[in-house]
Parts: sequence; structure tokens; C-alpha cells
Amino acid sequence: MNCAEAERMVSRYVRKDLSFRETQDFLEHISECSSCREELETSFFVHQAILRLDKDEDASMDLKTLLDEDIRKTTQRVILWRFRCAMLILLGLVVGMAVAGGAFWVLFQ
Ligand SMILES: [Zn+2]
Repeated sequence: MNCAEAERMVSRYVRKDLSFRETQDFLEHISECSSCREELETSFFVHQAILRLDKDEDASMDLKTLLDEDIRKTTQRVILWRFRCAMLILLGLVVGMAVAGGAFWVLFQ
């Protein structure tokens, strides 16, 4: 992913509007690109400030910590999603082998 693509995803990340694959690519990019990370911080802070104004909450909380926490939780969700995909592929292979084995057994008995 390049910076232009990442910048286009910033507001969608903040709104939690990215697919798991897009989120994974986006998080990989911002972990290595300080420019896009700053872009994300700015959008995230504005978004949080608006949310807090709406909820009439204290806006003075540490937004940097909030973003770090958000990235940590999102990364966990992406890892869980990858684990589920791997399990589905494994399940597909097992079912496929069982079907092939069954067909082999029926044909060559
Ligand atoms: Zn970048």
C-alpha cells in the first residue's frame, strides 16, 4: 500500500468502515509510515472530540493513549479474523479430503 491509498483510508478507518483485509494493509502501512500515522492521529482526534462533545464527556482524556488502544484492539480483531480464515481453509481441506477419500472408497471397493 502506498501513502495515497493509506490517506484515502484514514477517515474510513476512523469510522470503522474498512474490511478486515483493508484494515490489515492499513495498519501495516501506518506502523511503518510516520506521515500517514500523523494523518490518522489528526482524524482520530477530531472524530473523538466530536463524539465526546455529542456525549457531553470530558474531552481532556489522553487521545494518544486512546488511539494506541484503538489500534491494539483493531489489530487483535484482524489477527482473530486471519485465524478464522485459516481455520475455514483447514476445515475445507479436511472436508475435501474426506469427500475424496469417500469417493475413492466407493469407486475402488
Ligand atoms: Zn504513508
